[in-house]
Amino acid sequence: MARATELAGFVGAALAGLAYIPQIWHLIHERCSAGLSRLAFSLWLTASILVTSHAVAIGEAVFVALGAVQLAATTLILAYTTRYAGSYCASHLPASLAPVVRLDYPTASLEADHPLPPTVA
Ligand SMILES: [Zn+2]
Repeated sequence: MARATELAGFVGAALAGLAYIPQIWHLIHERCSAGLSRLAFSLWLTASILVTSHAVAIGEAVFVALGAVQLAATTLILAYTTRYAGSYCASHLPASLAPVVRLDYPTASLEADHPLPPTVA
């Protein structure tokens, strides 16, 4: 039974690592740090170091593997979030940084073609 749960633990650690891939891929490939907090990932990295050091000390292979996954993922995310701080892909660009859309058509001729109704005072 312990063997089956140990195997389940390794599968869980592998799934935890796979779950990080889309986020890391987007961060590195798109150079987009939207929604990623450096403070939060700094804390997760610190927590991973502390928990993994205990896992190593007691020799729990599943938790050492999970810790290694967490250490690798949080280190990568923290490094690239720092490198690409303030950088966003087109789909995550904040509205405040988006280019202003201008309607460049001559308003004078538009008004001549479509006069406004007279205003009643
Ligand atoms: Zn993005």
